[in-house]
Parts: sequence; structure tokens; C-alpha cells
Amino acid sequence: MPFSLDRSRLLQQRAESLIPGGVDSPVRAFRSVGGDPPFVERAEGAYLFDADGNRYIDYFGSWGPMILGHAAPSVVSAVQAAAAKGTSFGASTAAEADLAALVMQAVPSIERLRFVSSGTEAVMSAIRVARAFTGRNRILKFEGCYHGHSDALLVKAGSGVATLGIPGSAGIPMETTQFTTAIRYNDIGEVKKVFAKHHGEIACIILEPVVGNAGTILPQPGFLEALREICTQEGTLLIFDEVMTGFRVSLGGAQALYGIKPDLTTLGKIIGGGLPVGAFGGRAEIMNLLAPLGPVYQAGTLSGNPLAMAAGITTLQALLDGGDDFYDALAEVTSRIAHGVMDEAKKAGIPLCMAGVGSMFTWFFQSGPVHNFEDAAKSDTQRFGQFHRGMLERGVWLPPSQYEAAFVSAVHGDAEIEATVAAAREVFATL
Ligand code: PMP
Repeated sequence: MPFSLDRSRLLQQRAESLIPGGVDSPVRAFRSVGGDPPFVERAEGAYLFDADGNRYIDYFGSWGPMILGHAAPSVVSAVQAAAAKGTSFGASTAAEADLAALVMQAVPSIERLRFVSSGTEAVMSAIRVARAFTGRNRILKFEGCYHGHSDALLVKAGSGVATLGIPGSAGIPMETTQFTTAIRYNDIGEVKKVFAKHHGEIACIILEPVVGNAGTILPQPGFLEALREICTQEGTLLIFDEVMTGFRVSLGGAQALYGIKPDLTTLGKIIGGGLPVGAFGGRAEIMNLLAPLGPVYQAGTLSGNPLAMAAGITTLQALLDGGDDFYDALAEVTSRIAHGVMDEAKKAGIPLCMAGVGSMFTWFFQSGPVHNFEDAAKSDTQRFGQFHRGMLERGVWLPPSQYEAAFVSAVHGDAEIEATVAAAREVFATL
């Protein structure tokens, strides 16, 4: 049967008459790669199934959370059992401390933690508590890093902001971003310049310790160490936004992988096992500024939701049980996929460079290397779009933007590797 998205197209048209662009999050609309976005009906293991009956190997895993694969039986039954006991109480449950304890077991820099319902909320709350703790306003971030869509943080953000080529967002008062400084990633000289100019004013440095939202960009050796040192010297808090990298690049996230201890960490995605969860945490003396203990207000009707906690507990328990072996196996499968496709590109004479760590990676359509957003932006995004569509037509669904990371799950295996490499070989021949 030839590939068709006829039904998805009708669903998209209906959605567009009700929802702006037909989507609840912009990159889902496929604007940068072109063509119709498939409408998902269900997912299982490494696969997504759309409304037209097409099946795809999934390489975006709900943008990160689905490290165990879709509809993992243990997660589904935990959510079902929790739902049968009531879906939300607005009062405390033991599950919240259970999940907090599992997070802390893997991420020891977190001494106290609070759950929210998204990564955006986690980051905006972490910034607020950092400003309160230091009594300073300015925040330092890096070009191409995405930290959710709150007002102060869309300055030079990656992800959909980069994909759509917009400089931030309309509707944000200048006054709101006057304390945000955004500089080049991996450039410690620029960091020092900002500290020289704003000495004693910088509340925090926030970054993705491995960037995923400009495509995957690794920290250069010494970069994270230097940031840690500067923060300690200057009384500035170091915030690792591990919404994407937490429980992804290693059990303890990027901070465990690179051996750096941030003051605050933000988490999301995997810790909710596919349900809406974010969290922020870190040193107790900072976190204890939160109400009701201290003067920093932060709250949420559905925070610590019992279904979300159940999915998170089951997911993190599986990762803790799996330990290094789990992560080694995942990295091995990922490497075979990433390098298998690189080899095909080389044979076809197509300039492609790859950056990745553990089970997250990006193929950039350029010869590379990519150390910052400026480098990433040199990619041939038109060719990426053609590659994306060609792969989709052959049953492989990659993240629909050059400026995003791909993710591999524990249930991707030999069959998926072979099918992906074979599809890439065919598509490269058409480019
Ligand atoms: N921080 C990072 C590093 C992210 O990757 C994301 C989402 N992609 C966010 C924050 C925002 O999370 P959410 O979409 O759950 O609000």
C-alpha cells in the first residue's frame, strides 16, 4: 500500500478550525520540515501508529519521556491502579515522597525537591528561588538552550523558537527580559565578560548541561567545571536544567556523567513516565525558602498528581533496577543507529555530522563540528526536511526539526536498527 496521510490531513484540517495551527505545541505542526503531521492513534514499544494505519519507529519518544518505550506494561498497570483509587486529591499522598526519594537516590545534589506539572514550571520556579536566595535579579543563559516558555527565558531559546526562526516571543514586555543575558554556549571567555560587567548582580547561570534544544551539543571539556568554579567564586547559583538529560544521559543525569554538582536542578520528562510532571530541587538551604517554610511562593492544583507519581515511580524504579547495564545497552543500540546512518551518508557523499551522548543524538546536515547554536544554524535545514519526510514515508519518525534531539528507548533493538539504516540508505539516494 502506498504511503498516505489522507485521514491525518482531514484531522489536521478539523483541528486547525479549533486550535491555532491545529496543535497544542508548535513543533508538532511540522512547519520546518513541511508536509502533513501524522495524527497518532496509539503507541506500543518502539512504535507509533497513526490514523491512516501507518506504523513508525519512534525517535522522539514524546520528546524524551518514553525511555522504557510506549505503553510499558508495568507503567500502564501502575497508572490504572492509581486511577482506580482516584485521579486527584489536592492533598498529600505517600507517592510524592516515594518519587522524591527515588529521584534523590539517583541525583544526590538534590536534598529537597518539589514537583510541578511541566518543565516550564520547574524552571521558572527554580529561577524565582535562586533570585530570592541571592537577592539578585540577573540570570545568565546560553543561546540555543530552551528552558520552557516562561517570559524571562525565551530570549535566544532553541527548540521551537529556533525552528520557527523567531527571536523570542511577542507579548513579553522588554522589562521582563531586561535581566536576562544570553551568550554563546561553550564559551567561557564570554561568561567571564558578563561577570566583569555585572559583578555581584548575577543570581544564577542556567544551562542544559548537554544541549538538546539546538540539536544535541556536548559541553566542551572544562566548560562545566569552569562554570561551577565561577559560580562558587561569585556567589551565583549554578542551575542545571536536566529536564531532558535527567535519567537520560545516565541514571544521575549529566551532573553524574560529568561529575559536576549544581546548586539547583530542574527535571521533567522521564521522571513522569509520560505523564505531566516537572520537578526542581537542590540544596536544602535554598529550597527551604519555598512557602510554607519561607517567602518564595509557588503552588499547583495538580502538582504531585497521583497518576503522574505512579508512572514516575514505576519508570524510575525500572531505571534504578537496570542501573549501568541498562544505560550501557541503551547507548550501544543508539550508537549502532547513529553511526549506521552516518555510514550511509558517507557512502552517498552527503555531509552529515553527529553529536550524541547515551541515548540522545542529532544528525546535523553539515560537516560540523557543532559547539554552539551558531554552528548548529549552519545546517542545511532544507535537506533535513527532505530527509525527515523521506524517513517518515518509510516508517521512521524523527523529531521534526534540525534543532531537536532524537531519543532511543530500551525496546529499540536489532529490527529497528536495520530498518532505520535501510530507510536512510534509500532516502540519501534521493537527496
Ligand atoms: N527545559 C528543557 C531542557 C526542555 O527540553 C524542555 C522541554 N523540551 C523544557 C525545559 C520545558 O518543559 P515542558 O515542555 O515540560 O514545559
